Amino acid sequence: MNLTRRGLLKASGTAAGVVLLGPLRESASTLVPGATPAPTGAWNHDPASPIGPRHWGDIGFRTCGQGMAQSPVDIRTDKVTRYRGAPLLLWYQKSELVVENTGHAVEVPVPAVVQDTLQIDREFYELVQYHFHAPSEHTLNGRRADIEAHFVHTDAQGAIAVVGVVYRCGDHPSAALDKILLSAPATAGQEAHAGEGSPAELFGNIHGVSVIPGGPVLLNSFYAYDGSLTTPGCAENVRWSMLAHGGHVSNAAVSRMHEVIARFPDYSGYPNNNRPTQPRNGRVISYRRGGETADGGRRGTAFETRRMVPDRGASLAGIR
Ligand SMILES: [Zn+2]
Repeated sequence: MNLTRRGLLKASGTAAGVVLLGPLRESASTLVPGATPAPTGAWNHDPASPIGPRHWGDIGFRTCGQGMAQSPVDIRTDKVTRYRGAPLLLWYQKSELVVENTGHAVEVPVPAVVQDTLQIDREFYELVQYHFHAPSEHTLNGRRADIEAHFVHTDAQGAIAVVGVVYRCGDHPSAALDKILLSAPATAGQEAHAGEGSPAELFGNIHGVSVIPGGPVLLNSFYAYDGSLTTPGCAENVRWSMLAHGGHVSNAAVSRMHEVIARFPDYSGYPNNNRPTQPRNGRVISYRRGGETADGGRRGTAFETRRMVPDRGASLAGIR
C-alpha cells in the first residue's frame, strides 16, 4: 500500500534538515510507524489509558508533556485581540481523493504533483494532507463541535500552518465531508479511492468564507494563535488559523467516524480522537472579523453554523 509514499513524497519535497522531524512525524508518522525517527511507540486518545494524552509526555513524546505552547486550546471570545492581516487565501484544486485510515485519524493526502497553496499575507504554505478528528479538538467558550478538520501545510523552511474547521450535525451537511468520512476504510493502514474532489469543497456554505469561482477561497473570519501539532510528537512550530464559523455534517458521517476510531489498533474501543485542550500559558489569540453579518461578531456565536447565502458571484459550482 502506498499510502505513506504519497505523504512522504509530499512532505519530503519541503523537508530540510532537523527542524522538519516534527512535521514529518505529524504528517507521516500516523501512516508508517517506524519509517521516521523514534519515538514511534503506541499511543491513543483515551484520557483513561496509560498511553493516552495525559501520558504522552511520559511515553517518549517529551514535548507533548513539557511544551508551553500546545494545542488544541479553548478559545475564549472575551479574551481575543484584533487580527490585523488580510483574509487567508486557499488556492486549492481538484485532485484524486484517497481516504486513509491511519490508525489515529481519517486522512486525505494531497498527491505530490498537486500544489494546493495557503496564502497568509505574503507567506505561502503548501497543503500536505488534511484529516479529521471527532469530536472537535478546539473548543469555543468551552463548547465542542462534532468534527474538526485540519488542513496541514508546510513551507520550504519546514514551518507548519494548520487551518482548522469545525462541523456540527445539521440539516444541510457538506456533501464533500460526508463523502470522505463515509468512505473511510474500517481497517487501519487501508485506503479507499473516492473519486476526485477539491479540499476547497469542504469550505462551502460556511459563514465568513467566500468561494471565488475559478479563484481562491477567502477565509475572512478566523482565530489565529501559535500552537503545536495535536498528536505526538506535539512539535511547537505551528501557526493555527481556526475558522470562526463552522459547517454541517450528517449524523451518519459522525457515527461512521466514531466507529472507525473505536477500531483503531491501540484504542480498545475508545471512540474519540480528540486531544484535551491545553493551557494557553499567556498566549494571545487574535480574531479576524470579516464577512460577518451585522450581528455576526457580536453574538459570539463563532463555531456555530448557520445557513448562508453565498456571496454574490461565489458558488461551489465555480470551483469544480
Ligand atoms: Zn489534527
